[in-house]
Amino acid sequence: MRKLIDRLFQGECLTREEFQALVLCEDQDVLELLFQRAKERTEEVFANHVYIRGLVEISSYCKQDCFYCGLRCSNKKAQRYRISPEDILATCEKGYEMGFRTFVLQGGEDDFYTDQMLCELIREICLSCPGSAVTLSLGEKSRRSYEAFRKAGASRYLLRHETATAEHFARLHPPKQRLASRMEALTTLKDLGFQVGAGFMVGSPFQTPEHLAEDLYFLQEFRPHMVGIGPFIPHQDTPFGSYRPGSSALTVKMVAITRGILPGALIPATTALATLSKDARGRALQAGANVVMPNLSPSEVRVKYNLYNNKLSTGTESAQMLEALRKELEVYGRKMDMSRGDSPLWKE
Ligand code: SAH
Ligand code: SF4
Repeated sequence: MRKLIDRLFQGECLTREEFQALVLCEDQDVLELLFQRAKERTEEVFANHVYIRGLVEISSYCKQDCFYCGLRCSNKKAQRYRISPEDILATCEKGYEMGFRTFVLQGGEDDFYTDQMLCELIREICLSCPGSAVTLSLGEKSRRSYEAFRKAGASRYLLRHETATAEHFARLHPPKQRLASRMEALTTLKDLGFQVGAGFMVGSPFQTPEHLAEDLYFLQEFRPHMVGIGPFIPHQDTPFGSYRPGSSALTVKMVAITRGILPGALIPATTALATLSKDARGRALQAGANVVMPNLSPSEVRVKYNLYNNKLSTGTESAQMLEALRKELEVYGRKMDMSRGDSPLWKE
């Protein structure tokens, strides 16, 4: 097992079986070694910096029906809202004054916002917040739409693949949502010059160690710039409401292995992980994670962006809270970095 970790951190490609062996490993000494290596590799590439991204949850309307998500269109109990482009811009401007230089516009797949509206908004954010990166996380769209967003000035796109195994994907989504089209969207985004974020849930229903190994193998092949890895957390008004949440320990392990595969990747310590355990977020930051995404959404909409039960919705709407985050990161020996923090693998 130690040899496997050596090979991973020497940049060798591993087989699916080898990834599976790592996923299954429970030996505490070996895991300590894995976490140590992941921490060292992160420091070699990024020093002790943790990049801060301002998350704006622009809409809780969604036309998709992912079985795991509280915003799915079949959830009639979901509270729906959308933030107007003017208010999204104002939220980014407020964040800019606080020092944020990346804005992540995330939402359900909501056709209320036309491409034209979004492009105009992206251009306005770029103008009002010079030197900032606009990241989108708005689900699957056509190549034309992605291309328009890119031209308007968006430079990053987060679209988790959720699981790289087609049969597993089919158990988490209705038939009209397909892994092949998700993968095609990811390839298109890369092709258009976006910094692309893939990623998956840990402990989603029916997931096996083979599935997780396949996710790692996919990351090794696709080489995304960013990887979002978070535990599955049930939402009571979904078909998976009574399933168990994913394990935070396994999530941290997946983060550490991912750091071995992709030394230059930007890997957030996710909100879902922090929701399960605050402690686990710290452990992820000690084992390969190097991004935190505080919530900038206006407080009145936060509770309505309810992807899963008890989602943490406290964020960083004030300078004091940002100061608290700085202190928390210092405890882990990490330095809060508010700069754009582009992927070292990316050129405009
Ligand atoms: N609609 C967009 C962005 C919002 S959802 C999209 O799907 O890409 C953002 C992420 O939330 C999803 O990629 C999914 O991995 C995560 N998510 C949704 N429901 C979840 C749940 N119950 N537990 C953990 N993560 C969940
Ligand atoms: Fe919609 Fe995204 Fe939730 Fe799926 S995960 S239902 S696409 S918000």
